[in-house]
Amino acid sequence: MSEAWGELKARLEEIRDLGSAQKLFEWDQAVLLPEKGGRARAKAGATLEGVAHARLTDPEVGVLLGELEGDDSLPDDQKANVRITRREYDRATKVPPALVKEMAELQGISYQTWTKAKPKNDFKMMQPYLERLVELKKQEADAIGWEGERYDALIDVFEPDMTTAEVEKMFAELVDGLTPLAQSILNAAGEKPEFLTAPYEEDKQMAFSHWLCEQIGFDTKGGRLDQSPHPFTIQIGPGDVRQTTRTEPNTVLDSIFATLHETGHALYEQGLPEELEGLPAGTVSSLGLHESQSRMWENQVGRSRPFTEFMLPHLKDKFPKNLGSVSFEEFHRGANYPARTLIRVHADEVTYNLHVALRFELELAMFRGDLAVADLPGAWNDQMESFLGIRPETDSDGVLQDMHWSIGALGYFPTYTLGTLYSAAFFDKAEAELGSLDDDLKKGNGSRLLGWLHENVFRHAYLRAPKEIAEDIIGGPITAGPFLEYLRTKYSEIYDTEF
Ligand code: ZN
Repeated sequence: MSEAWGELKARLEEIRDLGSAQKLFEWDQAVLLPEKGGRARAKAGATLEGVAHARLTDPEVGVLLGELEGDDSLPDDQKANVRITRREYDRATKVPPALVKEMAELQGISYQTWTKAKPKNDFKMMQPYLERLVELKKQEADAIGWEGERYDALIDVFEPDMTTAEVEKMFAELVDGLTPLAQSILNAAGEKPEFLTAPYEEDKQMAFSHWLCEQIGFDTKGGRLDQSPHPFTIQIGPGDVRQTTRTEPNTVLDSIFATLHETGHALYEQGLPEELEGLPAGTVSSLGLHESQSRMWENQVGRSRPFTEFMLPHLKDKFPKNLGSVSFEEFHRGANYPARTLIRVHADEVTYNLHVALRFELELAMFRGDLAVADLPGAWNDQMESFLGIRPETDSDGVLQDMHWSIGALGYFPTYTLGTLYSAAFFDKAEAELGSLDDDLKKGNGSRLLGWLHENVFRHAYLRAPKEIAEDIIGGPITAGPFLEYLRTKYSEIYDTEF
């Protein structure tokens, strides 16, 4: 082992351990922390973050990277660690401290303002903050550097190497095919099945979720499932992957599909190669790839005919009063019931990505200077009407619904759709190679699919760029085709109509 690598590795491990403590804080805050502890915890978190930032930006790290970048004899995993650390180091050192400080303060105030502006339906309150955030994000992008266009620098944080041009093309193709398809499916949907909204005991929902995630391969010796209002998954450290789900008193499907979604994220984290453990090359490389896993277990698996057939008898056991007389056909239709909604987080599999496309188009236009922040609410409402045929009556149900923009999280939304498109393309490929998975899923057995994911996705961790991992599986750049075809086939069968 080269001396420089040994030194860098020790530093990376220290940064990782600080990050691990921060992540435990984050999990604790969402799951256990008493309300009054929030303020002190935020301060403790900021202290840890400051220490980790100082460790990463230590000029000695730059010196070590320079030395290691010239060393061709390094093994591939070390080369990958050097490459990823260079990315992080450059991002952390190129942005001037004054800009980092102003951004952090602005994000705090802006988020606080959003929590008041949304219930008051008052976009004007948010407008000056959004205008300044967009301005600072432009400065940040320029400091980091970009080649094609500025927005590339924003996407790159979440989706290394993906460009605006590629993402724009992907959305254009998706919107083109999905807008008319969604309209026809929505028109065919009919009445909402009654069992979808009825009282379901929440402790039984949790018991079902615990059983379900283990059933499809979640290792409870290497992780936990708990409850939080916004489900999420976080890897605290090797052997400790925590996921959360939520329950609602008047529906059961929300908790089931939230659990399947988060289990998809968790299986990926648990499946990362042990030999790369704890260093940058051993992590998940992109949000899009992460989301491909959650969406696959939630939708391609969870909402499929064979898997809903597997789940129903188990659910009938738990909830005989609500589901005793529900037929399999009714249940499967209910699990795939689409509806026009103004709110993204309530959207179904058919319409969800139109909500995302709307956000992507608007934030890109805003960032390019083609759309003034002041005109955002109107542009939002027009676009919603053209995609889904419904128009928000208030900004609370429109442009103010998500918190993302209030904290300057630009470039993040596209990863949701990228994940959706990947999930459909990957699942197709898995079945092309393994044969139909229907019989496995009818028995609730995900092991062959999981084995395929290990081989094709998990094994590569961050040794390679995410785009490369995906394109190797798909055989070229991602397109909307497989996802559109998946929806068309599934809904043609459900509603017995050719879409
Ligand atoms: Zn997710």
